[in-house]
Amino acid sequence: MKTSPDQLNFNNRFGRLPDVFYTRLQPIPLDHPKLVAVSQNAADLLDLELGDSCKQQLTQIAGGSRVPESADPLAMVYSGHQFGSYNPQLGDGRGLLLGEVTNDKGESWDLHLKGAGMTPYSRFGDGRAVLRSCIREYLASEALFHLGIPTTRALCVVTSDTPVYRETEERGSTLLRIAKTHIRFGHFEYFYYTQQHDALKTLAEFTIQNYFPQWLNKDDKYCLLFKTVVEKTAHMIALWQANGFAHGVMNTDNMSILGETFDYGPYGFQDDFNWHYICNHSDHSGRYAFSQQPDIGYWNCGRLAQALVPLLDDASALQKILDSYPTLYSDKYLSLMSEKLGLREEEPEDSELIRDLLQQLHEQHLDYTLFFRALSNYQPGQASSALMDLCSQPDPLKQWLQRYDERVLRNSEPEQQRHQRMKQVNPKYVLRNYLAQTAIEKAETGDYSEIKQLMTVLKSPYDEHPDLEHYAQKPPEWGKKLEVSCSS
Ligand code: AMP
Ligand code: MG
Repeated sequence: MKTSPDQLNFNNRFGRLPDVFYTRLQPIPLDHPKLVAVSQNAADLLDLELGDSCKQQLTQIAGGSRVPESADPLAMVYSGHQFGSYNPQLGDGRGLLLGEVTNDKGESWDLHLKGAGMTPYSRFGDGRAVLRSCIREYLASEALFHLGIPTTRALCVVTSDTPVYRETEERGSTLLRIAKTHIRFGHFEYFYYTQQHDALKTLAEFTIQNYFPQWLNKDDKYCLLFKTVVEKTAHMIALWQANGFAHGVMNTDNMSILGETFDYGPYGFQDDFNWHYICNHSDHSGRYAFSQQPDIGYWNCGRLAQALVPLLDDASALQKILDSYPTLYSDKYLSLMSEKLGLREEEPEDSELIRDLLQQLHEQHLDYTLFFRALSNYQPGQASSALMDLCSQPDPLKQWLQRYDERVLRNSEPEQQRHQRMKQVNPKYVLRNYLAQTAIEKAETGDYSEIKQLMTVLKSPYDEHPDLEHYAQKPPEWGKKLEVSCSS
């Protein structure tokens, strides 16, 4: 049954945990909130009917002036490793968990308001978010979802007349985020490093009870929990790599315990493929470069393992589970890349074929998305102009294609069928940085139409959209040099 935001059925289970887990407080309203964008797909998760009155209520809720009656807003406390160093005091410095909503199917969804004003965890910040960062999160969460990558979702973005000061004056804005959970690796680290081992245990029990109830009575439930986190994290990162996505700030406070892409900041999609792509302008050492993401995922799981040690009599089990990460990651990555290449029935040389292709893409600065889409139409022996036009040095690619020809012929599958399969995993449209930037620049003048139109292709990235072909093009020169930093 369709409902309105005011009537959402909040269950507020996190708020029933002891108060060492959070600080209860209300959002601080923005001046004259205006709805910038709203996602019907995300609204469906909460059974919301997106009519005018629903949009009005959402604007007020996101603007902080209205809190649904049964909601119980709170700021969560957590800590985490940022750029490799432990930061003992983080927490929701500019966001509030409004509560968890149970939908008609009985699913529970967290509703989180990002940009809701100062909290006890704001440190030196103002508790606010700006329009550009809210739009970036909105576009990316919906884009990744439609690419099949586990992610938090975005219900709507609101902006306002409230001034917020970054490098220049900007508009205070908010994002209403929907997610299965807001529990981060950093939650566990906080209770481990503050030596609150009872709370640590309560948190682990809460996580198991709500997300993995089947293990509640198992002796090794904490190991099972860790094993799942490791698996989900390895899978998520393999999907990032296969889709050319760089997160940009893989601090442990930005890692969801359910392996969903979380806390979008200075992320980026590959245009011209570069192994060492650094999307975060503030990442001077390249710690979170594209090529580093799989290893950082492993390192982050190690930090979580450390935090779980007090829960186990024999902590060596955690190390064993952690040791499974590299294989879990590379098996998943190999299978995703094999699908992108249209390979069937794994063969021993497949890894080498994939690696050599990526080397070509890297050396020739080939556009990652356009290349794989063009390969999805390629016929062995007939290097199409669509493919060849992409590269500056055709010969090495032709040599690679000869090997590829032999390999796909062994698929013993009709050509058409392979093309069909490949087009379902090689998107035509991805959220290129310059596309997000164009939508942001228009929105900053009060024109939100570009966000909506861009969303049309991001919602069905594998389909052809003949009227919107321009979204499938390489970035213009200005769009290659955009710099995105943590300041948001
Ligand atoms: P993020 O870089 O968004 O993952 O944030 C890292 C930490 O800084 C979290 O504890 C955030 O809540 C906090 N934070 C980020 N921006 C602000 C802000 N403008 N005001 C207060 N806290 C912030
Ligand atoms: Mg964060």
